[in-house]
Amino acid sequence: MTLDAQAAYPRLGMYIGGQWITSADRSHRVVNPATGETLGELPLASAANLDEALHGAERGFRQWRATPVAERALVLHEAARLLRARVDHIAAIATLEEGKTIAETRIETMACAGLFDFYAEEAKRTYGRVLVRPAGTRSLVVHEPVGPVAAFAPWNFPVHNPGRKLGAPIAAGCSVILKPAEETPASAMAVVQALIDAGCPTDVVQLVFGVPDEVSRHLLASPIIRKVSFTGSTAVGKHLIRLAADTVKRTTMELGGHAPVVIFDDCDLERTVETLAIGKSRNAGQVCVSPTRFYVQDAIHDRFVAAFTQRYCGLKVGNGLHADTQMGPLANSRRISAMAEIVGDAEVQGARVLGGGARNDGPGNFWQPTVLADVPLTARVMNDEPFGPIAAIARFRTLDEAVDQANRLPFGLAAFAFTENARQANLIADALESGMVGINTTGLAAADAPFGGVKQSGHGAEDGPEGLMACLVTKTIHQV
Ligand code: NAD
Repeated sequence: MTLDAQAAYPRLGMYIGGQWITSADRSHRVVNPATGETLGELPLASAANLDEALHGAERGFRQWRATPVAERALVLHEAARLLRARVDHIAAIATLEEGKTIAETRIETMACAGLFDFYAEEAKRTYGRVLVRPAGTRSLVVHEPVGPVAAFAPWNFPVHNPGRKLGAPIAAGCSVILKPAEETPASAMAVVQALIDAGCPTDVVQLVFGVPDEVSRHLLASPIIRKVSFTGSTAVGKHLIRLAADTVKRTTMELGGHAPVVIFDDCDLERTVETLAIGKSRNAGQVCVSPTRFYVQDAIHDRFVAAFTQRYCGLKVGNGLHADTQMGPLANSRRISAMAEIVGDAEVQGARVLGGGARNDGPGNFWQPTVLADVPLTARVMNDEPFGPIAAIARFRTLDEAVDQANRLPFGLAAFAFTENARQANLIADALESGMVGINTTGLAAADAPFGGVKQSGHGAEDGPEGLMACLVTKTIHQV
């Protein structure tokens, strides 16, 4: 770790009612996953803090919904400019608290700025409809902001996730109470600070941390909150959907995935290996769209497995602040025990460990890039999202067989296929039950394209015009 980056780590706090609150009765220790060192103490919200945030969000919404969209856009553009100007600082604190490489945290900070710019412009295109009626009368359909949003962002994209939870609702005219993950608070604080410095009115954004279940129960019970936006595991998502049902709040749920990768024997082998080794290493596999279940066609299976294992397991694992690191640590020690259980179970069931399969000695949550071959479908890794640097490989013979395997699970967030045959690409893209499909690519996130899943991977989308529509309600006005 560089001394500069350590020195840059800020005093932690919540932003409620226009004030930074840096102490509380309870706190959470924030740890650097690469070293095990303590970075700071995070104050956790009391019930009174949460009530204050709710009342602030109510005030903020009244003011912001009446603010012209052009003014809201100026705030978002200025916040985007500030994020870009501060990218070195923000990327350093994000790597300190989450672990991923500095190259990755720079990219996500720039992506967050891009998202703010996109929504600043997209909100100006919130059109309604005029319906044909007899002369002198009108029927109108208009879109209005849904209201105060409670948003829960996880730790795996410490800058971009908060950006996703804030950009579209703020553009739409909503206020937001944001609860990011307690593991990565400083990155979220930096995003909120950029909005404040850009002139976002005091009460439009509230930032709270706490005991997650306490915070979500408190906020979701309140009639002030009109929408819940959550990114995280399917289990927690189901719990929040149930809580939201009591007051019939709108929900956007971006939940777990288990992305299949279908590798046809007519793929460009070299490019496929490179794309997947890099794609799988992103944030050490702690990505909801990470390629996970690899189905490789018989004729190319052995060659793919050998080349992929050599490239992927050869990546340099280390502290994300070091320039030569290609894959950082896992974000917390829970993920290390999860990896050990998943690999142990696969071995017992007959899978071969071709590379990795263990943690690195020394401090920090480092797990080696791991390749499992001949993995039976009953193995846990083929059924539960590993959320770590494990690639599980199995064979297939025909397109139909690959589709059956890919669609076998109750998840449908991302799916990938690698082929040079356009017809085969079209057939599999149409057949995959998935919110997003990557053909010859693992890159699925773009400000202008909806990001979200089907089946138990969630509903609603973030990014793109769809992400804005999810923050708007429709009103029909009949005028005679
Ligand atoms: P977890 O299920 O305990 O937490 C996931 C996220 O949900 C965290 O950010 C946490 O703060 C939040 N959370 C947990 N309980 C909550 C509640 N009652 N109310 C509101 N928020 C709550 O799991 P974890 O150990 O932090 O992460 C591991 C699992 O989470 C992974 O296996 C993966 O499936 C899932 N996850 C998914 C994403 C994603 O991008 N979809 C991101 C992070 C984690």
